[in-house]
Amino acid sequence: MSRGAKGDNLEQKPIKEQIVLLIDLQGIDSEIYALNKEKSAIPGRLKSIEDMLDAKKTGIKQAEDNFKNIQLKLREKEGNLQQKEEQIKKLQGQLYTLKTNKEYSTMLTEIEGVKTDNSLIEEDIIKFMDETEFIKKKILEEKELFKLEEAKAQKGKESMDLKAKEIEAKLAELNEKRNGIAPDIEKQIIARYEKILKNKDGLAIAHIKDGSCGGCHMNLPPQVISDVKLREDIVVCGSCLRILYIEDNVEIN
Ligand SMILES: [Zn+2]
Repeated sequence: MSRGAKGDNLEQKPIKEQIVLLIDLQGIDSEIYALNKEKSAIPGRLKSIEDMLDAKKTGIKQAEDNFKNIQLKLREKEGNLQQKEEQIKKLQGQLYTLKTNKEYSTMLTEIEGVKTDNSLIEEDIIKFMDETEFIKKKILEEKELFKLEEAKAQKGKESMDLKAKEIEAKLAELNEKRNGIAPDIEKQIIARYEKILKNKDGLAIAHIKDGSCGGCHMNLPPQVISDVKLREDIVVCGSCLRILYIEDNVEIN
Protein backbone atom coordinates (compact mmCIF):
# COMPACT_ATOMS: atom_id res chain seq x y z
CA MET A 1 0.00 0.00 0.00
CA SER A 2 1.43 3.37 -0.94
CA ARG A 3 1.03 6.28 1.37
CA GLY A 4 2.65 9.25 -0.27
CA ALA A 5 5.16 11.33 1.67
CA LYS A 6 5.27 9.97 5.18
CA GLY A 7 3.92 12.22 7.89
CA ASP A 8 3.15 14.86 5.32
CA ASN A 9 -0.09 13.60 3.85
CA LEU A 10 -1.97 16.14 1.86
CA GLU A 11 -5.20 14.31 2.46
CA GLN A 12 -5.28 14.20 6.21
CA LYS A 13 -7.53 11.67 7.84
CA PRO A 14 -10.41 13.09 9.92
CA ILE A 15 -9.52 13.69 13.57
CA LYS A 16 -11.85 10.86 14.61
CA GLU A 17 -9.77 8.36 12.67
CA GLN A 18 -6.54 9.89 13.85
CA ILE A 19 -7.65 9.44 17.45
CA VAL A 20 -8.30 5.76 16.74
CA LEU A 21 -4.81 5.54 15.25
CA LEU A 22 -3.39 7.21 18.36
CA ILE A 23 -5.03 4.51 20.47
CA ASP A 24 -3.35 1.85 18.31
CA LEU A 25 -0.08 3.71 18.59
CA GLN A 26 -0.40 3.89 22.36
CA GLY A 27 -0.93 0.12 22.44
CA ILE A 28 2.37 -0.34 20.61
CA ASP A 29 4.18 2.36 22.57
CA SER A 30 3.08 0.85 25.88
CA GLU A 31 4.73 -2.39 24.83
CA ILE A 32 7.84 -0.51 23.66
CA TYR A 33 7.98 1.36 26.95
CA ALA A 34 7.72 -1.83 29.01
CA LEU A 35 10.38 -3.54 26.88
CA ASN A 36 12.76 -0.60 27.14
CA LYS A 37 12.31 -0.57 30.88
CA GLU A 38 13.11 -4.27 31.04
CA LYS A 39 16.10 -3.75 28.74
CA SER A 40 17.49 -0.90 30.80
CA ALA A 41 17.37 -3.04 33.95
CA ILE A 42 19.66 -5.69 32.43
CA PRO A 43 23.06 -3.93 32.86
CA GLY A 44 22.30 -3.32 36.54
CA ARG A 45 21.40 -6.96 37.05
CA LEU A 46 24.57 -8.08 35.27
CA LYS A 47 26.62 -5.74 37.41
CA SER A 48 25.12 -7.03 40.63
CA ILE A 49 26.05 -10.58 39.60
CA GLU A 50 29.62 -9.43 38.91
CA ASP A 51 29.76 -7.54 42.21
CA MET A 52 28.55 -10.61 44.10
CA LEU A 53 31.26 -12.77 42.49
CA ASP A 54 33.93 -10.12 43.14
CA ALA A 55 32.94 -9.92 46.79
CA LYS A 56 33.24 -13.69 47.11
CA LYS A 57 36.64 -13.64 45.37
CA THR A 58 37.85 -10.94 47.74
CA GLY A 59 36.63 -12.98 50.70
CA ILE A 60 38.57 -16.04 49.51
CA LYS A 61 41.68 -13.93 48.86
CA GLN A 62 41.50 -12.53 52.40
CA ALA A 63 41.14 -16.01 53.87
CA GLU A 64 44.18 -17.15 51.85
CA ASP A 65 46.23 -14.19 53.07
CA ASN A 66 45.18 -14.99 56.60
CA PHE A 67 46.18 -18.61 56.06
CA LYS A 68 49.66 -17.56 54.84
CA ASN A 69 50.02 -15.22 57.78
CA ILE A 70 49.24 -17.90 60.33
CA GLN A 71 51.53 -20.36 58.58
CA LEU A 72 54.37 -17.84 58.88
CA LYS A 73 53.69 -17.48 62.58
CA LEU A 74 53.61 -21.25 62.88
CA ARG A 75 57.02 -21.60 61.17
CA GLU A 76 58.42 -18.93 63.45
CA LYS A 77 57.19 -20.74 66.56
CA GLU A 78 58.54 -24.05 65.25
CA GLY A 79 61.91 -22.39 64.70
CA ASN A 80 61.81 -21.01 68.24
CA LEU A 81 60.99 -24.39 69.66
CA GLN A 82 63.86 -26.02 67.80
CA GLN A 83 66.30 -23.39 69.07
CA LYS A 84 65.13 -23.84 72.63
CA GLU A 85 65.38 -27.60 72.39
CA GLU A 86 68.94 -27.30 71.17
CA GLN A 87 69.57 -24.96 74.05
CA ILE A 88 68.24 -27.58 76.50
CA LYS A 89 70.47 -30.26 74.99
CA LYS A 90 73.46 -27.97 75.26
CA LEU A 91 72.68 -27.14 78.90
CA GLN A 92 72.08 -30.79 79.72
CA GLY A 93 75.48 -31.60 78.20
CA GLN A 94 77.08 -28.95 80.38
CA LEU A 95 75.51 -30.40 83.56
CA TYR A 96 78.25 -33.05 83.78
CA THR A 97 81.01 -30.49 83.58
CA LEU A 98 79.77 -28.51 86.59
CA LYS A 99 81.77 -28.74 89.79
CA THR A 100 79.52 -27.55 92.59
CA ASN A 101 76.01 -28.48 93.66
CA LYS A 102 75.07 -24.84 93.50
CA GLU A 103 76.13 -24.52 89.89
CA TYR A 104 74.32 -27.77 89.17
CA SER A 105 71.04 -26.69 90.72
CA THR A 106 71.23 -23.25 89.03
CA MET A 107 71.65 -25.01 85.70
CA LEU A 108 68.72 -27.34 86.42
CA THR A 109 66.55 -24.32 87.21
CA GLU A 110 67.64 -22.74 83.95
CA ILE A 111 66.77 -25.90 82.02
CA GLU A 112 63.36 -26.05 83.71
CA GLY A 113 62.76 -22.42 82.73
CA VAL A 114 63.50 -23.16 79.06
CA LYS A 115 61.24 -26.23 79.24
CA THR A 116 58.41 -24.05 80.58
CA ASP A 117 58.98 -21.62 77.70
CA ASN A 118 58.81 -24.55 75.33
CA SER A 119 55.50 -25.81 76.61
CA LEU A 120 54.06 -22.33 76.03
CA ILE A 121 55.48 -22.33 72.50
CA GLU A 122 54.01 -25.79 71.94
CA GLU A 123 50.61 -24.52 73.00
CA ASP A 124 50.90 -21.70 70.47
CA ILE A 125 51.96 -24.15 67.80
CA ILE A 126 48.92 -26.33 68.46
CA LYS A 127 46.69 -23.28 68.41
CA PHE A 128 48.13 -22.09 65.06
CA MET A 129 47.90 -25.60 63.60
CA ASP A 130 44.24 -25.83 64.57
CA GLU A 131 43.65 -22.43 63.08
CA THR A 132 45.37 -23.26 59.78
CA GLU A 133 43.37 -26.50 59.54
CA PHE A 134 40.16 -24.61 60.12
CA ILE A 135 40.97 -21.87 57.60
CA LYS A 136 42.18 -24.40 55.03
CA LYS A 137 38.89 -26.28 55.28
CA LYS A 138 36.93 -23.07 55.05
CA ILE A 139 38.86 -21.92 51.97
CA LEU A 140 38.18 -25.22 50.23
CA GLU A 141 34.48 -24.96 51.06
CA GLU A 142 34.33 -21.37 49.86
CA LYS A 143 36.09 -22.28 46.64
CA GLU A 144 33.63 -25.09 45.96
CA LEU A 145 30.77 -22.74 46.68
CA PHE A 146 32.32 -20.12 44.42
CA LYS A 147 32.47 -22.60 41.53
CA LEU A 148 28.75 -23.25 41.93
CA GLU A 149 27.96 -19.55 42.19
CA GLU A 150 30.10 -18.82 39.15
CA ALA A 151 28.32 -21.46 37.08
CA LYS A 152 24.97 -20.12 38.25
CA ALA A 153 26.05 -16.57 37.41
CA GLN A 154 27.19 -17.67 33.98
CA LYS A 155 23.79 -19.19 33.31
CA GLY A 156 22.13 -16.05 34.60
CA LYS A 157 24.26 -13.89 32.30
CA GLU A 158 23.51 -16.10 29.30
CA SER A 159 19.79 -15.96 29.93
CA MET A 160 19.97 -12.19 30.29
CA ASP A 161 21.87 -11.90 27.00
CA LEU A 162 19.20 -14.01 25.38
CA LYS A 163 16.50 -11.86 26.96
CA ALA A 164 18.21 -8.72 25.65
CA LYS A 165 18.25 -10.19 22.13
CA GLU A 166 14.59 -11.15 22.38
CA ILE A 167 13.74 -7.65 23.52
CA GLU A 168 15.70 -6.14 20.62
CA ALA A 169 13.88 -8.34 18.12
CA LYS A 170 10.51 -7.50 19.63
CA LEU A 171 11.36 -3.79 19.66
CA ALA A 172 12.32 -3.89 15.98
CA GLU A 173 9.01 -5.57 15.20
CA LEU A 174 7.05 -3.01 17.23
CA ASN A 175 8.89 -0.10 15.66
CA GLU A 176 8.04 -1.41 12.25
CA LYS A 177 4.39 -1.64 13.27
CA ARG A 178 4.62 1.85 14.66
CA ASN A 179 6.07 3.19 11.42
CA GLY A 180 3.07 1.77 9.63
CA ILE A 181 0.68 3.85 11.73
CA ALA A 182 2.48 7.05 12.65
CA PRO A 183 2.61 8.60 9.14
CA ASP A 184 -1.20 8.63 9.01
CA ILE A 185 -1.38 10.93 12.00
CA GLU A 186 -0.88 14.67 11.67
CA LYS A 187 2.65 15.75 12.51
CA GLN A 188 1.51 18.20 15.17
CA ILE A 189 -0.72 15.66 16.85
CA ILE A 190 2.00 13.04 16.83
CA ALA A 191 4.49 15.55 18.25
CA ARG A 192 2.07 16.42 21.02
CA TYR A 193 1.35 12.77 21.71
CA GLU A 194 5.06 11.90 21.85
CA LYS A 195 5.81 14.76 24.19
CA ILE A 196 3.16 13.52 26.62
CA LEU A 197 4.38 9.95 26.17
CA LYS A 198 7.88 11.03 27.17
CA ASN A 199 6.78 13.09 30.16
CA LYS A 200 4.11 10.74 31.46
CA ASP A 201 5.86 7.40 31.84
CA GLY A 202 4.90 6.03 28.46
CA LEU A 203 1.18 6.70 28.78
CA ALA A 204 -0.09 9.53 26.60
CA ILE A 205 -3.63 8.34 26.07
CA ALA A 206 -5.89 7.93 29.06
CA HIS A 207 -9.17 6.04 28.87
CA ILE A 208 -12.06 7.60 30.69
CA LYS A 209 -13.54 5.18 33.16
CA ASP A 210 -16.46 5.96 35.53
CA GLY A 211 -16.09 9.64 34.73
CA SER A 212 -12.41 9.73 35.73
CA CYS A 213 -9.16 10.05 33.82
CA GLY A 214 -7.55 6.62 33.52
CA GLY A 215 -4.13 8.22 33.79
CA CYS A 216 -4.41 10.24 36.99
CA HIS A 217 -7.86 9.15 38.28
CA MET A 218 -9.13 12.69 38.64
CA ASN A 219 -12.84 13.22 38.11
CA LEU A 220 -13.59 14.90 34.80
CA PRO A 221 -16.26 17.54 34.22
CA PRO A 222 -19.22 16.24 32.10
CA GLN A 223 -18.46 18.85 29.45
CA VAL A 224 -14.93 17.44 28.99
CA ILE A 225 -16.34 13.93 28.70
CA SER A 226 -18.87 14.97 26.09
CA ASP A 227 -16.13 16.79 24.12
CA VAL A 228 -14.06 13.64 24.20
CA LYS A 229 -17.01 11.62 23.01
CA LEU A 230 -17.52 13.88 20.01
CA ARG A 231 -13.96 13.14 18.83
CA GLU A 232 -13.82 16.36 16.91
CA ASP A 233 -10.67 17.55 18.57
CA ILE A 234 -7.90 16.34 20.81
CA VAL A 235 -9.06 16.79 24.42
CA VAL A 236 -6.61 16.53 27.29
CA CYS A 237 -7.09 15.88 31.00
CA GLY A 238 -6.92 19.15 32.91
CA SER A 239 -4.92 17.49 35.62
CA CYS A 240 -2.32 15.21 34.01
CA LEU A 241 -2.52 16.62 30.46
CA ARG A 242 -2.89 13.19 28.87
CA ILE A 243 -5.02 12.86 25.75
CA LEU A 244 -8.44 11.59 26.78
CA TYR A 245 -10.30 8.82 25.09
CA ILE A 246 -13.64 7.18 25.70
CA GLU A 247 -15.08 3.96 24.30
CA ASP A 248 -18.03 4.39 21.95
CA ASN A 249 -20.44 2.38 24.05
CA VAL A 250 -19.94 4.40 27.23
CA GLU A 251 -22.89 6.62 28.15
CA ILE A 252 -22.33 10.17 29.28
CA ASN A 253 -24.03 10.98 32.54
ZN1 LIG B 1 -5.48 12.79 34.02
